[in-house]
Amino acid sequence: MVTQSDNDVRGTFYIVATPIGNLDDFTDRAKRVLQEVDFIAAEDTRHSKRLMNHFGIETRLFALHDHNERDKAAYIASLLDEGKNVALISDAGTPLISDPGYHVVHFLRQEGHRIVPVPGASALITALCASGLPTDRFSFVGFLPAKSKSRRDEMSSWVPSLGTVVFYESTHRILDCLEDLNTVWGDTVQVALARELTKTFETFLSGSVSEIKQILEDDSNQTRGEFVMMVSLPAEQEGNTEALKVLTILLKELPVKQAAALAAEITGEKKNALYKQALVMNES
Ligand code: SAM
Repeated sequence: MVTQSDNDVRGTFYIVATPIGNLDDFTDRAKRVLQEVDFIAAEDTRHSKRLMNHFGIETRLFALHDHNERDKAAYIASLLDEGKNVALISDAGTPLISDPGYHVVHFLRQEGHRIVPVPGASALITALCASGLPTDRFSFVGFLPAKSKSRRDEMSSWVPSLGTVVFYESTHRILDCLEDLNTVWGDTVQVALARELTKTFETFLSGSVSEIKQILEDDSNQTRGEFVMMVSLPAEQEGNTEALKVLTILLKELPVKQAAALAAEITGEKKNALYKQALVMNES
């Protein structure tokens, strides 16, 4: 077992959360750590430089992003071995949450380095806590696939035991995503949509999929900005979810009619309902 020890002379690796909009959410501790470390590893150095300048933080930055983080892990370990302290930040929010850093942290943990989280904002928790949807159990699924077919497959795989399903969505895909959610789950689910959290136009919408879709279609301003989508699946949909899963798999190999009939036989769901569902799913 690898553990970090108190009398380690090596440097410390800090994982520092930055604001997701409102700069007042930058904690004093986060600013102090960023000022005092020897290096800051940042997802986009130009973007972070602006934030650092705003707060008068002069620490040297280097880039750590999805494409170089495996290589940078060894470099960071060597800096820590020299006794240097390094902080990781992302463009906004908590690093590693749909942001780079996992490979570095995994590597440094294995090597027994001291890793200290400096908590702060994350869009995930900020959205969920104010959504009005169940918070006792939830599943964060990051970003859904960009292609509609894969997105629907992912949505069909959700089961009520996941609790509230939370994911990030972009302005370009928000309407398509609601369309797919409507296709797969219809108005059987409760949805909460958090937009522009901690910023001037912060908005929470909640209701059925079609209600929320309508609001966005009626007012294009509601499709602008950054989004967290939250979906609460009703427990009684469990059987139906299973049937959709089976249907999704069968549709990859069989014509609609045959897939629906077989899925009905396997799951005990109504053949007609599955046939209708299969037609919609096959459209994409
Ligand atoms: N690591 C970040 C965190 O802890 O929240 C998330 C990074 S991820 C690359 C960026 C996505 O988070 C955005 O596309 C959006 O879905 C969500 N997000 C970030 N800031 C947000 C905000 N202020 N309001 C709503 N969603 C936000």
